[in-house]
Formats: sequence, structure tokens, C-alpha cells
Amino acid sequence: MSYDRIRDPRGLKHQIGDMEADYIYTAGLAGEKFLLALRDEGKLHATRCEKCDITYLPPRMYCDQCFGSLDNWIEVPKTGTVQTFTTTYEDMNGEPLDAPITLAFIKIDSTPSLAPQALLIAADGTRPHHLMR
Ligand SMILES: [Zn+2]
Repeated sequence: MSYDRIRDPRGLKHQIGDMEADYIYTAGLAGEKFLLALRDEGKLHATRCEKCDITYLPPRMYCDQCFGSLDNWIEVPKTGTVQTFTTTYEDMNGEPLDAPITLAFIKIDSTPSLAPQALLIAADGTRPHHLMR
């Protein structure tokens, strides 16, 4: 059996035209509860597995380690350590923004997350190194 390498994509069967694609993204049960608490109460909520001693932020419905259902919701502090950050001056289309946006990876206090959390810090020019410990 042999395979021919395709060098000219025009030889593939294809159709030229526009395709309408509308998407509705849902955050899921845990994500919705997390986002509503953040928006309406300004609180960071996480789920916790006592058996595995893991706090999930953003919250999850099931523990990655023991697959147990996570019903224990806790409020975590809004303090943490900036691990790294970047500032962007353009939008996704390369157009200049009215004001720069800074994104940072923050390890939230009391959450032994395996990965830092990504949060939008400031759109007002606040530099993360002023927030770093
Ligand atoms: Zn667990």
C-alpha cells in the first residue's frame, strides 16, 4: 500500500463559499455558578475535594483524582501571587485598543492549584508588578 503526498490542495474535494456558524457557549453548571458569584457578589468560589485535599479554581463538578462529585463550595481570597503577565495593545484583529489590557497568571492564595489561574487584571494601565509580592 502506498500513500501519495498531496502537494496541491486544489486537488482535494472542497466547496468554496460561506458557511454560517453560530455558537452558543455555555460555562457549564460549575462555571455558571462561579461566574455569577464573581459578577454579582465579587467573590471567587472554588470547589474542594476533602478526600484528595484539592481546591479547584475555577470550580469543577468532579474531582480529577478520585472522580468524586464536588459539592463543597468555598470562597477563596481575592489575593494571590502574580506568576507572569503580558500587556496587549491590540485586539484579536490587530486593531489598536483604546487602552492596553494586561493579562496575568495568578496563583490564588489557599488554592494549591496545579496550574496558575488566568485572570484579567486591569484595563486601566495598572501594572502587575505593582501588585506583585
Ligand atoms: Zn478527590
